[in-house]
Amino acid sequence: MQIDPISAFKDNYIWALRNDRNVAVVDPGDARPVQEYLARKQLQLVAILATHHHADHVGGISALVAARSRGIPVYGPKGEPISTVTHRVAGGDRVAIPELDIEFDVLDIPGHTRAHIAYYGSKMVFCGDTLFACGCGRVFEGTPAQMYASLQKLANLPEATLAYCGHEYTLANIGFARNVEPGNAALAEREREDTLTRERKRPTLPTSIGRERATNPFLRCENAEVDRAAARRLGKAVTDPVEIFAAIRDWKNKY
Ligand code: ZN
Ligand code: FE
Repeated sequence: MQIDPISAFKDNYIWALRNDRNVAVVDPGDARPVQEYLARKQLQLVAILATHHHADHVGGISALVAARSRGIPVYGPKGEPISTVTHRVAGGDRVAIPELDIEFDVLDIPGHTRAHIAYYGSKMVFCGDTLFACGCGRVFEGTPAQMYASLQKLANLPEATLAYCGHEYTLANIGFARNVEPGNAALAEREREDTLTRERKRPTLPTSIGRERATNPFLRCENAEVDRAAARRLGKAVTDPVEIFAAIRDWKNKY
C-alpha cells in the first residue's frame, strides 16, 4: 500500500491510500482533484474517511459518492452533523477497508471541533486539523484542556508513527515555534530541512510523532523553555501544562 497526497484549495491535503487497483481518501474537501487523481491513476474509490465536519474536509464527499454507481462507505465522527457519512464512528471503534487490507482504530481527539476523530493503524495516523507539523489546530469547539489531552494522546503513539495532517502549514508553524523555543537545536535543523523540502515543492508531510515530540511546542508544554515563553506571555509564572498550552495557542492565534 502507498499513500499519495492530493493537493486541494490553497494548502489542504487529501490523503489517498492505494494499492494498484483501489483507493480510499481521507478528508476530501473538494471532489475535483480526487476525480482527476482517480482517472489519472485508473483507481477505484472504495471508501471515504472524514476526521471532522469542516467544509474543507468533507465538501467533496457528496460528488464523489454520486459518481459511483454502487454506494461506498463514508466513515466520519459520530458526534458531528455530516449528512454524507454512512458509518458513524467514535473512539474504540475499528474501521476496516478490506480492499486495501488495512484496519484503523478510531481515536477521539476533540478540541478543534467537538467530536474530531483520528484514524490510527499500520504505524500511521490521519489526524485532520488537530496535530499539524510543528503546530496544532485552533481550538474552535472544544476547550484548551480537551485539545491538550487530544494532542497528548497523539504524542503518546509510538515515535515512528507517521502523522498525516490536513494542511501544509509547516514553515509558518516552525517560524512561530522558533520564537517559543529559540534554543531548540532540533527545531533549527528542522527549519533547514523543511525549507529545502518546500523549495522543491514537496510536502513536508507526513511527519513522525518522534519528530513532533522533539520540535512541536504544543507537545512540549513541560519543557522549561516553552514554560518560560508562556510565563513571559502571561506575565506570571505557570506550571499547569494546560495553562501553558492555552497561553501558547493564544499567542499563535495573534501571531
Ligand atoms: Zn478544520
Ligand atoms: Fe482544515
